[in-house]
Amino acid sequence: MALKINQLHEGEGMTEKVRVRFAPAPTGHLHIGNIRTCLFNWLFARHYNGKVILRIEDTDVARSLDEACQTIVDDLRWIGLDWDEGYGVGGPYGPYRQSERLDVYRKYAEALISRGDAYFCYCTPEELAEERKAYLARGRMPRYSGKCRNLSRDEVERLSAERTPVVRFRVPVDAVILDDMIKGEINFDSSTIGDFVIMRSDGFPTYNFAVVVDDAEMKVTHIIRGDEHISNTPRQIMLYEALGFPRPKFGHVAMILDPDKTKLSKRHGATSLSYYREAGYLPEAILNHLALLGWTPGDTREIMSLHEVQTEFSLDRVSKGPSVFDPKKLDWFNSQYIRASDPDRLLDMALPYLGRFGIHEDSQLGGEERERLEKIVTSVRDSITNLSGIPEEVAFLFGDGVEAYDESARKWIEGPTAKPALSGFIEVFSGSDAAELGREEIQAGLKRVIGDAGIGARKVLMPIRAALTGRTKGPELHVVMEILGRERSINRVRAALLDTGGNSGGATSL
Ligand code: GLU
Repeated sequence: MALKINQLHEGEGMTEKVRVRFAPAPTGHLHIGNIRTCLFNWLFARHYNGKVILRIEDTDVARSLDEACQTIVDDLRWIGLDWDEGYGVGGPYGPYRQSERLDVYRKYAEALISRGDAYFCYCTPEELAEERKAYLARGRMPRYSGKCRNLSRDEVERLSAERTPVVRFRVPVDAVILDDMIKGEINFDSSTIGDFVIMRSDGFPTYNFAVVVDDAEMKVTHIIRGDEHISNTPRQIMLYEALGFPRPKFGHVAMILDPDKTKLSKRHGATSLSYYREAGYLPEAILNHLALLGWTPGDTREIMSLHEVQTEFSLDRVSKGPSVFDPKKLDWFNSQYIRASDPDRLLDMALPYLGRFGIHEDSQLGGEERERLEKIVTSVRDSITNLSGIPEEVAFLFGDGVEAYDESARKWIEGPTAKPALSGFIEVFSGSDAAELGREEIQAGLKRVIGDAGIGARKVLMPIRAALTGRTKGPELHVVMEILGRERSINRVRAALLDTGGNSGGATSL
């Protein structure tokens, strides 16, 4: 299978330029499955130097709104999958929104009707329901009986006066063979497929018809999509034949499952991209996880940039079976990417989450303020799994005092070593008036406090950490002190000193 693709696109016989499409319906935010499909199309196209088209499939949605289309554009832009032609960017085969192409579908439907490959059907929903029942009663798979296949001209005239017909495709009796780029050869028995509707009575095409017309008109060469569409594929192949269009290649990617191996659903957690975006997941973490859902680099690598995956991508490394979307694994990817982010970008990404500290996405930050905030967010980047966890982690670095000591911090503050540690701290660090506390001064100072107390480093440093942060875990002490500066550090330690030696309760407010 892989050989065929490679021969076609990389070998001597490479005559065709790869063109793929994203074809989402505007029904809200894209979900994880959509994004994985877009990603595989994107990777395939970029790997082979091809083109990506964005087409909005809005013939089945009750109302198609600009806003809903914009949501798709925003989601794709945010995740970083770009397209060369299509909705929002234009191109030679537009319009790229199906609801604006009704005359195109009509034209092809008329051509099929005039050749006898399609016909008007006047059956009412009640009649069809009766037919269905009768099939089921006989223990057979329901399908359209073909009742309107051979209506006479007179009958057509009479019925047209009463009802608006649909257009049905006259399904031929040939077997359909799909040579799928991922699943291999699949044979379909067309005798189980009844004549299906291609144009509805409201003048809208059905999905199977519109998708074929559009993919052909837009010169799509490879259709990579979820395998829930496999049952549509024989219908589409028959339409390609009837319309005389060259058949594109199909690749059906197996579905994504929840960790408990059921179909990915909201029941087990969020599936919408917007959820992950708002919760502070990085696009590259999501893409990295999704790339490895179904595709493998052939070794044990996990952290891979989009560029690396693109360079190595091929459909012969896409598995035939389903893969599992594990939110915990995504957390892991996300924390890896957060750790690797440079402070400047990390701060930009964190800004929308810092509202409770009076900082906003569009805050005009001065150089010094920016630097301080960069230090703050960077100080906790090892301990968060997503950006929305930042405020909780950095809260202690804002404000003058510590709001409350957690249980383990209180133990240290009320413990026997707090007094010598904290008073030693004040003595050493109040020796200078300079507001700034540099790393060297801090390190030398802490060493002195430890030495003077003579009770061991941990017993000195833990009460100090507890006093400064209200906790016993967090960024390195020198980082905390650098961020807080001299005055706030000393004030916090002073406040804690009042709480030592049996005073219970929270931190003394300043
Ligand atoms: N609009 C369809 C979907 O979102 C596209 C199917 C296809 O790729 O043919 O599932």
